[in-house]
Amino acid sequence: MGISTTNPATGETVREFDALTESEVEEKVARAAAAAADHARTSFADRAQILHRAADILDADSESLASTMTTEMGKTITAAKAEIAKCAKGLRYYADNAADMLADDIADADAVNASRAFHRFQPLGVILAVMPWNFPLWQVIRFAAPGLMAGNVGLLKHASNVPQTALYLEDLFRRAGLVDGGFQTLLISSKQVEAILTDARVAAATLTGSEGAGRSIGETAGGQLKKVVLELGGSDPFVVLPSADLEKAAKVATTARCQNNGQSCIAAKRFIVHTDVYDEFARLFVENMAAQKVGDPTDDDTDVGPLATEQGRQDVVDLVDDAVSKGASVLTGGQVPDGPGWFYPPTVIADITTDMDIYGEEVFGPVASLYRASDVDDALRIANDTDFGLGSNVWTTDSSEIEQFIDDLEAGQVFVNGMTTSYPEISFGGIKNSGHGRELAKFGIHEFCNVKTVWVA
Ligand code: NAP
Repeated sequence: MGISTTNPATGETVREFDALTESEVEEKVARAAAAAADHARTSFADRAQILHRAADILDADSESLASTMTTEMGKTITAAKAEIAKCAKGLRYYADNAADMLADDIADADAVNASRAFHRFQPLGVILAVMPWNFPLWQVIRFAAPGLMAGNVGLLKHASNVPQTALYLEDLFRRAGLVDGGFQTLLISSKQVEAILTDARVAAATLTGSEGAGRSIGETAGGQLKKVVLELGGSDPFVVLPSADLEKAAKVATTARCQNNGQSCIAAKRFIVHTDVYDEFARLFVENMAAQKVGDPTDDDTDVGPLATEQGRQDVVDLVDDAVSKGASVLTGGQVPDGPGWFYPPTVIADITTDMDIYGEEVFGPVASLYRASDVDDALRIANDTDFGLGSNVWTTDSSEIEQFIDDLEAGQVFVNGMTTSYPEISFGGIKNSGHGRELAKFGIHEFCNVKTVWVA
């Protein structure tokens, strides 16, 4: 696939872009390296001013930018505007709080025979960010806002299907007053990433994307002894136990599965329900899923727009077909609609067995897998029986069950009686094949810092 804007609601390619040549990439890397030295010398107050200006620009551009995002990857216009508002909030949050997160961390000087001992957080320099299309603005801002506040500069290799949003991001920081070269978009193919990551002027990388891309970038970074943060896929469990408010759980489950047209790493994908409430939850969930309005993403009242790419929809079709051919039941959805665009209906699949691909793989579309658990421990067992470990959800009002699931769910995040969501204020990341490292909050902002230990006699 080349670098282009292809509208998923129509299948029409509306703009194409050439990839940068080797010498154009070289020029940008050199500019980033020069900017890194300048930006590292700026004060927190200077950086905060830039981020506040960027937030104001986002607010002002919301209508047109939302339209670009919807055209490029099919998210509903309502979701696009909400994403922009979240990014503006995130920029302001780091502008206002990063200095505290990065203040010297004072150690016990007496214990180490010093007059002063502390850790100072200093920037690493040029960070390469390889990003996916599903939240084309937020994925980048959640790296850029803490990263720029920490004094790093960014090179963005965005997904090939969101080039206009990618270019907008470079322009955003330029208009906000960031030093020339402080944040640049590289319109390049994934094959061009390795050469950039092996360039000595690039200090580290962050990738949000698939497991395959994670392995590839992780290997290259490892070979270069460079720091890398990997935010990869997920197949998050959504566990419903007998004391849960079933009506609320079924509603939230629908949002958790269908948000962003079913294409979110932290979407709940496996719904694991205690046998005592399975039938009632299944009835409510299917009712809610079937009631979702699928259609034109530019309509304000559409719940679910098209999938972002033709291949992405085919992957979903293949997983559902494989399951059905091996005996799974389709409780709602499951059929590709006629007409243009890469639409797929909200779908619920039950009677899943371990030999089906859908049992172990991530479904990147609005398809829910429903599992019956014989008891609480069985629910936990099914929840953890996955190679992924990104987010997780448990619904119960029993305090001992809450503590048990907080302790025992194998995931980077546990949300109790709610759905997994990323917030600028709390950390985000996974374990197992969902990656390593953290984004956001104190843990995220420290990832791309030299934690310098200082000891003074
Ligand atoms: P993808 O194919 O891995 O693409 C993500 C980014 O990586 C794109 O910019 C892509 O460029 C680039 N890329 C792909 N293969 C590469 C390689 N071998 N070397 C260097 N760069 C490479 O991911 P996707 O399928 O579009 O996105 C969905 C996946 O991302 C899902 O698995 C989802 O769960 C995951 N995701 C994770 C998080 C999280 O925070 N954990 C958040 C959102 C999405 P091209 O577009 O040019 O191929």
